[in-house]
Amino acid sequence: MQFAFDNTYARLPRELFAHVEPTPVDDPQLIAFNSELADLLGVDAGDYDPADIAQLFAGNRLPQGAEPIAMAYSGHQFGGFSPVLGDGRAILLGEVVGRDGVRRDIQLKGSGPTPFSRRGDGRSALGPVLREYLVSEAMHALGVPTTRALAAVWSGESVFRETPLPGGVFVRVARSHIRVGTFQYLRARDDLDNLRQLLDYSMQRLDPQAADADNPALAFFAGVISRQAQLVAAWMSLGFIHGVMNTDNTSISGETIDYGPCAFLDAYDPAKKFSSIDHGGRYAFHNQPPIAQWNLARLADTLLPLIDEDQDKAIAAAKRELEAYARQIEAAMIERFAAKLGIAAGDDASWSLAESLLQLMHRERADFTRTFRHLANALDGDDAPLRSEFADPRAPLEWLDEWRADLARRGIATKDASRRIRGANPAVIPRNHRIEEVINAGIEGDFAPFHRMHQALQTPYEERAEDGIYRLAPRPEEEVQATFCGT
Ligand code: AMP
Ligand code: MG
Repeated sequence: MQFAFDNTYARLPRELFAHVEPTPVDDPQLIAFNSELADLLGVDAGDYDPADIAQLFAGNRLPQGAEPIAMAYSGHQFGGFSPVLGDGRAILLGEVVGRDGVRRDIQLKGSGPTPFSRRGDGRSALGPVLREYLVSEAMHALGVPTTRALAAVWSGESVFRETPLPGGVFVRVARSHIRVGTFQYLRARDDLDNLRQLLDYSMQRLDPQAADADNPALAFFAGVISRQAQLVAAWMSLGFIHGVMNTDNTSISGETIDYGPCAFLDAYDPAKKFSSIDHGGRYAFHNQPPIAQWNLARLADTLLPLIDEDQDKAIAAAKRELEAYARQIEAAMIERFAAKLGIAAGDDASWSLAESLLQLMHRERADFTRTFRHLANALDGDDAPLRSEFADPRAPLEWLDEWRADLARRGIATKDASRRIRGANPAVIPRNHRIEEVINAGIEGDFAPFHRMHQALQTPYEERAEDGIYRLAPRPEEEVQATFCGT
């Protein structure tokens, strides 16, 4: 298999990474290979031999042109600053420019220790590998910016967490792995020369027009802000909880990155959190928009010296951008929730309709995904499925009348509204209880459930008969209460 590597990050100042080779594993076996993505990357897979590419993606044999490095970064984790984190279990092989002209990183995750591993083993358990594969590819199919899955490999070795677990290697593809924490790493060292270089590099790679602006650092900041606002609005509209929105997990490309303790809502609860380590609910569902702003403010801290020599002026300019974030995410959420209700252009009225439905759903423990999807059936004349989502099926009757009246007032045709609803509200999402089933089967060596679920997640807005089980909410005894970091 040939990758046309064209590595640029490895040309950056040495402070930003460490050279490191993956550590081979005993007996790697290929679980999944994303040939469609490989094709986009311009990778010539040819008539590949699974055993052969398992060697490659496990890190046992490096592809030609790879220059393996571990990236350095800091991070605010649950609000506390760690000056040195870095890739403790990930190794960047290099970059390729795809058929679409986009440069992307190819990274191994779980391929052995690096200089940033601290006390960690540099490995991944198989479960988190399967979860990241399924959820990141599902996010892509849902239309949400995200890192992608190129391959999953079973390492043939055990990793030790509380108990021995089968190990895995995940091959991740991203627009770039530069995070807010990468900027923080240089700022924490007062290394302004390299910070300037990192900014130039990031602009060139992700925001070439920012480099031509009057104030490039500020224009770059504004670009990161609008990508985060769009991203988090998309999460909110789909009931996605990232779970660990630390600044080291906030990509400046605006892609969802690091699917550790992430989960989709089942019953709607704005304060819902799944992560077992998120004791205070810092990363609970409804906290995601303000937390993203907090993370962006940490990026601003690092950029201030590059925005203006006069720090008061720099702070004022950064503050204006952070206020723009609040307006942008609000506008994006109004649009998205309007579409969820079948309304083309959102406004205050559509937002209050959405809010009153959400309040009812919370009170009545209605399933987030199913309730919104059933709005289309309700418009088509059958509101029984929707009402059955509510503890008291009479609860949404009044709201339904109000909503229909609103659509009529707007002159929206029923068939347009239901088409819009079915395009904004998925039928199939990667529910936690199904992921758990897939992982449990995978640990036993049975990957058929993984492949079946992956297939269903490719067409999330369709209701195919064979995907019925992926549209079901968990029964009470199936419900997953807590998720764990992918460590
Ligand atoms: P994460 O929770 O995946 O965002 O990881 C946070 C930090 O811990 C990053 O610096 C990771 O590289 C590091 N880390 C997580 N798991 C491991 C591991 N098994 N071995 C070494 N480092 C790890
Ligand atoms: Mg991380």
